[in-house]
Amino acid sequence: MAKIDEISVEEQPLEWDTPLFRTAVAQFEEALTHADVGAAAAERLRYPERAVMVSVPVRMDDGRWTVFPGYRVLHSSVIGPTKGGIRYDPHVSLGECAALAMWMTWKCALLRLPYGGAKGGVRCNPREMSMDELQRLTRRYTIELLPVIGPEKDIPAPDMATNEQTMAWMMDTYSMQVGYAVPEVVTGKPISIGGSVFRSEATGAGVVMVIERACHRLGWNLAEQRCVVQGFGNVGGVAARDLHYRGAKVLAVSDISGGIYSPKGIDIHGATAWAAEHRTLADFPDVEHVSNEELLELPCDILVLAALEEQLTAENAPRVQCKLVAEGANGPTTIEADEIFGERGIPVLPDILTNAGGVTVSYFEWVQDLGRLFWNREEIRAKLADQLSDGFDRVWNLAEQQRLSLRSAALVGAIREVAGALDARGIYP
Ligand code: NAD
Repeated sequence: MAKIDEISVEEQPLEWDTPLFRTAVAQFEEALTHADVGAAAAERLRYPERAVMVSVPVRMDDGRWTVFPGYRVLHSSVIGPTKGGIRYDPHVSLGECAALAMWMTWKCALLRLPYGGAKGGVRCNPREMSMDELQRLTRRYTIELLPVIGPEKDIPAPDMATNEQTMAWMMDTYSMQVGYAVPEVVTGKPISIGGSVFRSEATGAGVVMVIERACHRLGWNLAEQRCVVQGFGNVGGVAARDLHYRGAKVLAVSDISGGIYSPKGIDIHGATAWAAEHRTLADFPDVEHVSNEELLELPCDILVLAALEEQLTAENAPRVQCKLVAEGANGPTTIEADEIFGERGIPVLPDILTNAGGVTVSYFEWVQDLGRLFWNREEIRAKLADQLSDGFDRVWNLAEQQRLSLRSAALVGAIREVAGALDARGIYP
């Protein structure tokens, strides 16, 4: 097979070839050395299958027109339709979408969801836009993507600065084109139009399910662990509450304003109510206030990262005082920090496993929509726990058998799933 870099103009990098995409490919290459997959499958999976760039004209509230660049990258449709979020952010680029789409392929494959990975977005500043402008942007972007999205082809979901409302506009725009309601074209919708119960808590709850499983394997009792949680939003807030329900002591939590710490344990219900009322944890009473940097270095058993990427680095990793790191956020540990934790014997529960509860319940939402049959909260919670336990056990066992870090084992397991499917289908024609 001709290599893509042999047939492209040598001096001209491919359009998606950016530092983030190179990071995703470097991780893939590292995992390949342990994965034992064929050269043809490996070569195919280094590249996205399809990348769409669109220009989205929007009439702003003041009557002027602005054209926003939009993207959607589909990395692999070998196992099924592609799945991944849509983000609205000034930094969205083709390379960022291509990297995130590749990571989505591995996450779905690891959890054995019948999906490949995708990611998309519009380069805009959503904080400077009105709801009407965001609605017009979303509807026109959806129309521009009509050739690629669809319940059997590519199924978007919310990501940075998009939410249930964005998904409702996408679902409505798509449905208007085909002439009937198609709830299964997106996930993360409002429940009134086919969204799933438990979807909004799924990622945070999944983080705690994975931690519980890890404690079991490590011979620890979760109820005896002292936890620190960075981020108190959708993922971190739910994770902190679930840890508390299960008897663990949550010593500290934080948001963008900083952290709150109490060696006796934080009043999680009080902090939740305070954050809901004041939109920040700042000034929460009767606790010690610490910075986000200090929070990461507090003595504890389990450190949950649920805010943003690159929080643990070569600089602070030597000072971290936990026994286990859990990645609720995407990419919160740098490659250098990972190595330091490896040397220090601190296991890191990797993002593609630990925060996969969200995409797993998105899959349940799609299945419920396709079947027009809806499950209750308890059924969904139980199915999620089964799926995550199964994924966790496969990662843990592979790490033990091949003496790999949990992150490498997760990637190796996922790559084998996709490469196995690609080998079975063959590369067309
Ligand atoms: P969110 O916006 O609901 O919450 C983010 C939290 O992080 C907030 O409490 C915010 O104040 C805090 N934060 C922001 N900047 C910070 C900073 N500089 N220092 C410390 N805290 C800061 O977002 P979320 O949905 O909870 O997502 C958190 C992470 O989890 C992201 O990396 C996201 O990609 C990842 N993730 C989310 C989901 C999901 O279903 N929501 C699924 C998979 C992965």
